[in-house]
Amino acid sequence: MFVDSHCHINFPDLASKLPEIFDLMTANQVSHALCIGVELEKFPDIRALAEAHSNVYASVGVHPDHEDCTEPTVEELVALADHPKVVAIGETGLDYFRLTGDLEWQRERFRTHIRAARTCGKPLVIHTRSAADDTLRIMREEQAGEAGGVMHCFTESLAVAEAAIELGFYISFSGIVTFKNAAALREVAASIPLERMLIETDAPYLAPVPHRGHINQPGFVKHVAEEIGRVRGLSVEAVGEATSQNFFRLFAAARP
Ligand SMILES: [Zn+2]
Ligand SMILES: [Zn+2]
Repeated sequence: MFVDSHCHINFPDLASKLPEIFDLMTANQVSHALCIGVELEKFPDIRALAEAHSNVYASVGVHPDHEDCTEPTVEELVALADHPKVVAIGETGLDYFRLTGDLEWQRERFRTHIRAARTCGKPLVIHTRSAADDTLRIMREEQAGEAGGVMHCFTESLAVAEAAIELGFYISFSGIVTFKNAAALREVAASIPLERMLIETDAPYLAPVPHRGHINQPGFVKHVAEEIGRVRGLSVEAVGEATSQNFFRLFAAARP
């Protein structure tokens, strides 16, 4: 009924307790999870997880916060994405919050990912933080809409969400939408079209209420759906149904 569109279950905190993680997914009706790549060095682990578990998918990419790691080329990303369980390119994007100084390398890396996504025809998973204008500008310059994708862990304004939707992108909400101080984000979640919305955990980070302060996991994505249902006047089931359908429409290679 629910799909976690963005998690990092290969990270040590979660990889060490996978049986419990899959048990909670089952208990909470979380049918699938997309495990997101952040470095080429870690990609083989993610691909192995996706190969071992029929309900886990993988993406390949290098996160904008990772400075000292192998810089990907378009050709490498395209080659690694050529796998039936690899359904997306990313996460990629811009982050001017975590890192400062000359970040031209981030913008170049982002362009590389968009070119790879257009080449292989798989959608993008985009991370943007304190960099919305440049993110949208580069998406337009590189014609990211041709590949499509999702703005993950969305925390920007309604105007930014609408601009991304206009480019053909989906908007994914994380546990942040449940946080007390996130009234503005709940407004965005109440306003955008349901058919462009995804849900995610970004586990192990950002555990939703009522699990704040604990290690997040895909089973908790249900709480994100509950909050969105609350602000939109929908049942949790309706939100789960719609966002799951959206997930399989966007990540066509994941269609069950
Ligand atoms: Zn991210
Ligand atoms: Zn992430």
